Amino acid sequence: MIDIIPDKCDFCGCCVGVCPEDAIELKEAAIYIIDEKCTNCSKCVWSCPIEALMFNKAGVQKE
Ligand code: SF4
Ligand code: SF4
Repeated sequence: MIDIIPDKCDFCGCCVGVCPEDAIELKEAAIYIIDEKCTNCSKCVWSCPIEALMFNKAGVQKE
């Protein structure tokens, strides 16, 4: 799944807009990933302009 690096995130909302599963919530000065909705598509990771999102170990796909 996806980890947020809170110290980096500036709450711009870019990732919220690209998530096809509506799995990211931005509330005031906090952002949340709803793991139950997330399909690990990675669109949010690539959309973040400051690299504040990353896969955690459980989300890494092994080939
Ligand atoms: S990995 Fe995909 S489904 Fe999961 S939060 Fe990011 S954009 Fe949404
Ligand atoms: S795109 Fe990056 S900086 Fe913007 S709200 Fe999402 S995690 Fe935070």
